[in-house]
Amino acid sequence: MDLEQLRKTAAEVVARDDVKYLIGWRPGSYGYRIAPCFVEDAAGAAALTFSPLCNTNLATYLTLVEKLPVPRGETPDQRKVALMVKGCDSRAVVQLLVEKGITREQIVVLGCPCPGMADVALLAEKYPETDGPAELKWRGGDFVLVRNGEEILIPREEILAEKCRLCRYPNPVISDITLGEPVAEWERPEDEGVAAVEKMEVNARWDYWEEQFSRCIRCYACRNSCPLCYCEDCILDRLNPTWVNRAVNFSENTAFHIARAFHLAGRCIECGECERVCPANIPLGKLNRKLAKEVREKYGFEPGIDPEGKPFQASYKPDDPEEFIL
Ligand code: SF4
Ligand code: SF4
Ligand code: SF4
Repeated sequence: MDLEQLRKTAAEVVARDDVKYLIGWRPGSYGYRIAPCFVEDAAGAAALTFSPLCNTNLATYLTLVEKLPVPRGETPDQRKVALMVKGCDSRAVVQLLVEKGITREQIVVLGCPCPGMADVALLAEKYPETDGPAELKWRGGDFVLVRNGEEILIPREEILAEKCRLCRYPNPVISDITLGEPVAEWERPEDEGVAAVEKMEVNARWDYWEEQFSRCIRCYACRNSCPLCYCEDCILDRLNPTWVNRAVNFSENTAFHIARAFHLAGRCIECGECERVCPANIPLGKLNRKLAKEVREKYGFEPGIDPEGKPFQASYKPDDPEEFIL
């Protein structure tokens, strides 16, 4: 993507009378950090970037910030919110539209065709961060790391994020303004992570998830970073009745993870944010992708694709085999 064109377009968008601000990415303060930013003027637009480090799904802010209560005496600002989206982020926007979490009139979508993001943890492991800022760029099909005036070519497969290896929609599925040319789509390989868990004998599979869930510290970073975990009244926060006890132990952690996974079934758009932000490295992607796979294979349904469609839970087919009814 031409960054000058991005910044020029963003400045034009935030100058519009009907736009409140634009949510985009800007370089962070050090190393491989990228920060989400709220742009209100041309100076803010001049700081925007788009690179293989822009993993954050900004669609989360549409409900996180926009649903905050308006202070007494103030009137809500009804102007539109502009938003930069990659392919997976755009699916979150579509899913929010379908669920009526937001309306089409509330947003301006700036679509960013996406050649694939880097797994920043893997990048930092192989190429430890230095104090000064570092830049990661796409070149051909690979990545180029620029730091201390030196360029290092990194083959795509070496640091490509898992969600991107498995991505089916690198080009935004919804967009008002497309920034740059569409990227060529790639064939999705077998999901080895999900396949490995499926192959486990049932007790071994239980042991595997027990080991994973036992490490959860219930910080809720996964829930808070998820663009589709936006219930105003989350069952995990309820005290009366208490659906999930606040105690951090295997039993309550399991209740939390199973509740969340089922609430995301047919809704998760596989952006990988929950797993990326988890401080305990719990493989949440495997859990969510397994449910997404079941929904895809059993019902031929994929969320976040059709802005005119219905949510999975609200869809009905007269010839549904209803195998789940005993
Ligand atoms: S999942 Fe697809 S759209 Fe999302 S960051 Fe990866 S390649 Fe880009
Ligand atoms: S982010 Fe990780 S540690 Fe925190 S609640 Fe989620 S799974 Fe548990
Ligand atoms: S559950 Fe995880 S992968 Fe799915 S939409 Fe939420 S953050 Fe993205």
